[in-house]
Amino acid sequence: MTPGIPRNIRKEHIISALATIDKEGYPKEHESIKYSLVYEGRKYPPVWVIRTANVFANGEPLDPTLYSGGAQSNNFLKKFGFRIVKKTHSEVDHTSFDFETMNRERIWREIQAKYKGQDIPAHVLRDTYRIYRGAGGLWVDKERTSKISNDDAGIAISIFHKGTQYPDDFSDAAIRSPYPVTNRQGGQDGNEVKATKNAKRFNIPVFVITTSTLDPTRRDVKKGFVRDWDDANQTFLIEFGKIPDYTKEGAFSEEIPFNLNRKRKRQYSSRSGNNPRFSFDVFKRYGHCCAVCSMQIDGLLTATHIKPASENGTDDPRNGIPLCQNHHAAFEKCFFTIHPGSYQIVTRESGPSKEELELVEEDILKLKALPERMALQWHYRRFLREI
Ligand SMILES: [Zn+2]
Repeated sequence: MTPGIPRNIRKEHIISALATIDKEGYPKEHESIKYSLVYEGRKYPPVWVIRTANVFANGEPLDPTLYSGGAQSNNFLKKFGFRIVKKTHSEVDHTSFDFETMNRERIWREIQAKYKGQDIPAHVLRDTYRIYRGAGGLWVDKERTSKISNDDAGIAISIFHKGTQYPDDFSDAAIRSPYPVTNRQGGQDGNEVKATKNAKRFNIPVFVITTSTLDPTRRDVKKGFVRDWDDANQTFLIEFGKIPDYTKEGAFSEEIPFNLNRKRKRQYSSRSGNNPRFSFDVFKRYGHCCAVCSMQIDGLLTATHIKPASENGTDDPRNGIPLCQNHHAAFEKCFFTIHPGSYQIVTRESGPSKEELELVEEDILKLKALPERMALQWHYRRFLREI
């Protein structure tokens, strides 16, 4: 209960707060979930009332980490004779989009405050927060969320990411998550894919749950947003942080002007070299196949920067190309390059030869899209310098 609500807040401050709320309203996400203060026939959210009363008592809104909703706020207000009533079930629209968003944000705040998002007992996520089902990959709570999505799929709440298949699937910044595949009957998988797509359509956060590295019975949780999906490769992109500037509503967009160099400094995500967002964008844009040979095997393909990230090359997929691991290494060593005018594959006269490098294709025109000329020019120049 400490440090609590400042003692110098008096009844007149609270009445001033109510008048302010009458005039200005309050943000929707601060609607109370369980209780209302009733004054002259109108209802107000208790926590927001106290926050605002502090402006009149102490000149600033009250820091929300100093006090809590429920008993503490309610008892404080009751002391002055205000009436607190529990919201009736019908007043709380548990199936509204606003409630759903607010509730997820509230859960996230609690998980961060109590656990910093880490090493949380699985049963707490399942029973207290109801954001985790246990076994399966995806948790939707279809009965409740399908009333919001207004279809038979609902909206995904959490995704349990079991271990990392490939290192490039998961980082501090993003996750590439495969479409759920099971043998269950009745179109369940299709609905789960749809429920995950709905999370993007509604721009509502989802929880990404992983096994704790310290204790396998516990779970780590991150809050993310479904940014994009790739039906051809059956993957979702879920991001935990900021949206890069080459995107539109979270997804890569060809309409954004291309910059070969990144604007901001590299973020934590790429310290380890993992960049799920870049891989997702490259495979979605070009297809899931080495650009210069026939390799298509998952886990043997990499999204390669044409101008390397280590030299400040952008993560925009137009500076990318899908290559198998051998050709990735050969491209980085400038054993071959792509002609920026004709898109033909060019090797050094002094070798190794096309045959030795097992470059099957003559050019990269089989790709679904082509890299930016500016990026290819950069690599071509580097190649000419090397030979
Ligand atoms: Zn290859």
